Amino acid sequence: MAKTASKDTAAKTPARPRSKNPTDTGKVKKVSRAVTRLVEPGSQVDCEHCGERVKFQAKMRHQQVICNVYEKSKWVKVVHYHAPCYDEAKQPFGAPLD
Ligand SMILES: [Zn+2]
Repeated sequence: MAKTASKDTAAKTPARPRSKNPTDTGKVKKVSRAVTRLVEPGSQVDCEHCGERVKFQAKMRHQQVICNVYEKSKWVKVVHYHAPCYDEAKQPFGAPLD
């Protein structure tokens, strides 16, 4: 005569806020890493090193370094650098991959 509480429990479970990084597929290693990418039109990010906008300029084809930052195997944030700034900052998340 055990009571069945499973339905009740399911109903009470609150909807979890989206806490997962959408770019995290689960296949990649959960450590901080950096990649080099061309700056894209409409870029709206600021450089972590100098604080200036990572701006798209058609003629310049600037490069940026995008870093996925993990702490204790948990994704924390994405940070952007101008490519030269990343070198100046001494590549805090390792050598960028192409
Ligand atoms: Zn910069």
